[in-house]
Amino acid sequence: MISRLQALGFTIERMPFGDTNNFWAYRGTGSTLAFAGHTDVVPAGDESQWEYPPFEPTIRNGLLYGRGAADMKGSLAAMVVAAERFVTSYPNHNGRLAFLITSDEEAKATDGTVKVVQALMSRNEQLDYCLIGEPSSQYRLGDMVKNGRRGSLTANLTVHGIQGHVAYPHLADNPIHRAIPALQELVSTRWDEGNEFFPATSMQIANIHAGTGSHNVIPGNLQVQFNFRFSTELTDSQIRERVETILKNHNLDYTIEWILPGEPFLTAKGKLVDAVVQAIDHYCGYKPELSTSGGTSDGRFIARMGAQVVELGPINSTIHKVNESVSAADLQQLSRIYQRVMEQLIQ
Ligand SMILES: [Zn+2]
Repeated sequence: MISRLQALGFTIERMPFGDTNNFWAYRGTGSTLAFAGHTDVVPAGDESQWEYPPFEPTIRNGLLYGRGAADMKGSLAAMVVAAERFVTSYPNHNGRLAFLITSDEEAKATDGTVKVVQALMSRNEQLDYCLIGEPSSQYRLGDMVKNGRRGSLTANLTVHGIQGHVAYPHLADNPIHRAIPALQELVSTRWDEGNEFFPATSMQIANIHAGTGSHNVIPGNLQVQFNFRFSTELTDSQIRERVETILKNHNLDYTIEWILPGEPFLTAKGKLVDAVVQAIDHYCGYKPELSTSGGTSDGRFIARMGAQVVELGPINSTIHKVNESVSAADLQQLSRIYQRVMEQLIQ
């Protein structure tokens, strides 16, 4: 990718963090449209289960087979080819065309996009639009794009009491008894009503533990783990504050640890959504459904830069599976769609 972009006159900045290779590449100045994606893939699993070797790309009956064909090396190829055609047609394009490429999305995602975004933000790099090549399509190319994702927030709560003999409760302090009314209030709270793009925020208790196993011991503490899937109506700090207010109102002696696997993001409307919808309609003859479904994605990091973010890629029905494949014609079509997005935003 680097050598092909270099040949087009892109400035390449390698941004390795730890043992993760990333790069940021750009060409031109002004309003910035970045294409983002990952070069890493999930393991192939038992290679003997594959019809064709997972790391030798093979085209059969119009399908390109190989690990990463759909998630998401196919999209990366489509982006580069789109950039080659676009730059050849418009060598003096108006805005800036950029690439943000990581090799750590499928694993821990700690030294990939998140670190590149931090580095770009620390020097006030501008990013207006970002198109991520994640395989968003369901049944036919472009039938769905992702314009946001729900946030995920986990709490590890410990309620402290005093261990003792059940026959001498005045000498102990039962953390289960103390926690029950607070947990009841947490599970019955309506956190928000959701909005046009997101369902209402949901809170689920995933794990709970207390007790020594003995019927005559009041336990010394209780551990609960719960997770929020939250909409853009709330921030993680608002949720944390409301939870801790409830815990304090119940006079709990507690410690709580919060983990934020992903902030929510939403690109409701704007030039990028318009351009993507128009480009799909132009080449496919139908408009995509805008969706915020699914788990977290690297979009959650890129949205921090204030960019409009949309995910558009090929059909995802075989991703992470044996015999992962993608229609070769779809990749060519996808490349034209990407090019048309460039033409609308930075030509
Ligand atoms: Zn992916």
